[in-house]
Amino acid sequence: MTASTLTHLECSACGQRYPADQLLNLCPACGKPLLARYDLQLAAQTLTKAALAQRPATLWRYEEVLPVQQAAYRLSLGEGWTPLLHAVRLGQEIGCANTYIKDESLNPTGSFKARGLCMAVSRAYELGVQELAIPSAGNAAGAMAAYAALAGLPAHVFMPADVPQTFQVECKVLGAEVTLVNGLITDCGAKVREGVAAHGWFDVSTLKEPYRIEGKKTMGYELAEQFDWTLPDVIIYPTGGGTGLIGMWKAFDEFEAMGLIGSQRPRMVSVQSTGCAPIVRAFAAGEEHAPWWEGARTIADGLRVPAAIGDFLIIRALHASGGTAIAVDDDEMLAYAKLMGSHTGIFPAPEGAACLAAQVHLLSSGWLGPDDRVVLFNTGTGLKYTHAWA
Ligand SMILES: *Cc1c(COP(=O)(O)O)cnc(C)c1O
Repeated sequence: MTASTLTHLECSACGQRYPADQLLNLCPACGKPLLARYDLQLAAQTLTKAALAQRPATLWRYEEVLPVQQAAYRLSLGEGWTPLLHAVRLGQEIGCANTYIKDESLNPTGSFKARGLCMAVSRAYELGVQELAIPSAGNAAGAMAAYAALAGLPAHVFMPADVPQTFQVECKVLGAEVTLVNGLITDCGAKVREGVAAHGWFDVSTLKEPYRIEGKKTMGYELAEQFDWTLPDVIIYPTGGGTGLIGMWKAFDEFEAMGLIGSQRPRMVSVQSTGCAPIVRAFAAGEEHAPWWEGARTIADGLRVPAAIGDFLIIRALHASGGTAIAVDDDEMLAYAKLMGSHTGIFPAPEGAACLAAQVHLLSSGWLGPDDRVVLFNTGTGLKYTHAWA
């Protein structure tokens, strides 16, 4: 047994509760995302600051507040516990000395998708799932394929035919069955639904099952630990489905309930591409739901999400934190990737570079101050996006 204190699942919209060991996708009552809940008082008894100092350098160090019950199902390729780097030269260059980069490119498969899929695949494996499926235009498919390979579970990937070679090849080498679909990511989603109905596959699309967010929330725990039990003033996060942002927001509440941090919260900033900015548009309009973005186009595959099922959760966190949402264009992503690379030694994904572009905009508008402690999320490695530079 692990030390997991998972108690039940709870709908993020209607509040309906379900047993923890039931295999579920969305809330059966209302179709919205389900969230995992824990006995945080119990978790706090063993997940202490002193105990953490002895724990493994992976996201499994937080096992009390992760869902996996039996150690045999804890799949690990070394995900999580990525470096939080003080970007001194970059901070000087842009006039924001306390600029930090959480470098998620060091995760297995080169992106932070490993955190979420590590947890979703582990938990699906534990609950008896036989085959996994995902519609994806990028890093999520590779991460699912990797953990499915580790578990020995068949993996079915449906990708739009125009997905860059790198992402397709990665999935194939990791043993997934890759189907290219002439159409959009929504058409890929329809193919997955067919496979679910016909063959009983389990769909691990983000926030359509409760555990990817549990993997991604660990970024929030790590920030608290790496900043010596404080949180930064501002977090700038490249937002597609928003799973990491919603997850970190949940993680901060959990750590506060466990007495590990106080009530201070970072201002949360969602960055999107001008070619696909549904959250930015909805936030600016004061809406809680973000309608479908027509003609989504960007080199940042992780940001090409025309509609996010957790839109209301992203927007609530932005408001509750005093944050904002901002769009940057693809040319800026490439230019700021170069600025980041040449001043830090990190070759960022365009999504990571988008955070730096947003930071510079927010500094010049005065929304960010030169003394703010700011964390940029480099969510993936630039090595998977060399096509964008061609
Ligand atoms: C998926 C992805 C994102 C967006 O992450 P969400 O948590 O779904 O918003 C950002 N960057 C990269 C590199 C990604 O693969």
